[in-house]
Amino acid sequence: MNVSGKYEAVIGLEVHAQLQTNSKLFNGDSASFGAEPNTHISPITLGHPGTLPKTNKKAVEYAIKMGLACHCEIEQFNYFARKNYFYPDLPKGYQVSQHTTPICKGGYVTIKTKDGERNIQLNRIHLEEDAGKSIHDADENYTCVDYNRAGVPLIEIVTEPDMNTADEAFQYVTEIRKLVRWIEVCDGNMEEGSLRCDANVSVRLKGETTLGTKVEVKNLNSIRNVKKAIEYEIERMIEMVEKGETIIQQTRSFDADTDTTFAIRDKEEANDYRYFAEPDLTPFHLTEEFISGIKSSLPALPEELFERYQSLGLNDYDAKHLSDEKPVSDYFEQAARYSTNYKAIANWILGPLRQVVNENHTSYKEIALTPKTLAQLVAIVDEGKVNFSVAHIKILPALLKHPGKDPLQIATELNLLQVHATADIEGWVNDVINKMPEKVAEYKKGKKGLIGLFIGEIKKASKGKADPKVATQILEEKLK
Ligand code: ADP
Ligand code: MG
Repeated sequence: MNVSGKYEAVIGLEVHAQLQTNSKLFNGDSASFGAEPNTHISPITLGHPGTLPKTNKKAVEYAIKMGLACHCEIEQFNYFARKNYFYPDLPKGYQVSQHTTPICKGGYVTIKTKDGERNIQLNRIHLEEDAGKSIHDADENYTCVDYNRAGVPLIEIVTEPDMNTADEAFQYVTEIRKLVRWIEVCDGNMEEGSLRCDANVSVRLKGETTLGTKVEVKNLNSIRNVKKAIEYEIERMIEMVEKGETIIQQTRSFDADTDTTFAIRDKEEANDYRYFAEPDLTPFHLTEEFISGIKSSLPALPEELFERYQSLGLNDYDAKHLSDEKPVSDYFEQAARYSTNYKAIANWILGPLRQVVNENHTSYKEIALTPKTLAQLVAIVDEGKVNFSVAHIKILPALLKHPGKDPLQIATELNLLQVHATADIEGWVNDVINKMPEKVAEYKKGKKGLIGLFIGEIKKASKGKADPKVATQILEEKLK
């Protein structure tokens, strides 16, 4: 029985993003990932008595950057709060976070769904420190702890309960990952845990205005798992409601092997965090100038570029893919300074260049073909000096090998320039006609579709150099 039409799901997401600062949020220990356990620690990270933390300005700046990119209001008066709880990976016995004064308030993130664009409302973005890591599989009898991650700066991006489908949640996290990478505050790597998502899900009858009881699925480590966990929860909760069972507020975990979730604790046992203002850190006041300075340093954002690319006449596919990653968009922007054939540039970037980037495990930043050279390559194709496939198959690899050279030089050296001279082309046309008497007869009997075959053969015979327009004219004349 399909009862899902009766119900509506409500979803709110909490995303933790590790800020890619050099040092930790409150001391100079390295914040980088992957070092030997317990080598990025100091008495401050470990919270030894007598140590004093100090706020990392870069982390504050990154949090503001994200807030501005998400249209949030920036809180000028900030202080940190202690969130007290005991856990082995928390050496101090409390996490320094922001409680009543998140650095960014409100705001929204625009997502694209199959029904169009939607703004997902944010509640807040606040700054806090990460915990260390318990390692259960290093020793048979003991759980080990690695405090390298303890104190690494995080922002927590919290939405309102404003999404209704797993697909919206998928798009939202995709957009968040794109944004943090775009403005270079977080590497967005979910496998390494630099970006983590908790999904809060409830269901209610359609038309109901109060929220149902929610469950929270913790630590989803891929965007696909966010979607799968939510899909599973929605189905599970609807089934419970249909059976007349009461949903209890729970914290759950996702099992990626079975695509299901399981309860880890009920909310009745929830901690009382005994928040209070962190006495070791002075409150900090952000001036208008500081905030507007960060604002003016922000790059053009994907949304804005998507619209710009549409206004250049590019289709939605091109506009979307050019504004998906900053290095791609940067490459396009630079090439567009030297060429106005935007469509051709987009095709090259999203086609042959993407292939080069993927196959050589390089990036658009490091690719040996400069945007200016790409524009020159586009130009010689537009001028009819070489055709596209010669440019792609022959000239591009040569340019990648000899980055200093220009495309026309290479085309000349490799004898690839298109031949327009009727006499030369006529020779290739004759060769092909002589080689294929049966096909010629069929053509003359009315099988006009064969023209493509002949042109293909002429291209081959001329190694792509015969101007296809001229070749077609001569061919049609001869086959009359
Ligand atoms: P908690 O105190 O349990 O952390 P919050 O009120 O801080 O709860 O909300 C945490 C997240 O859960 C937010 O993203 C919020 O939008 C979402 N949320 C809150 N209530 C619901 C609900 N009934 N259904 C779905 N999501 C919810
Ligand atoms: Mg929460």
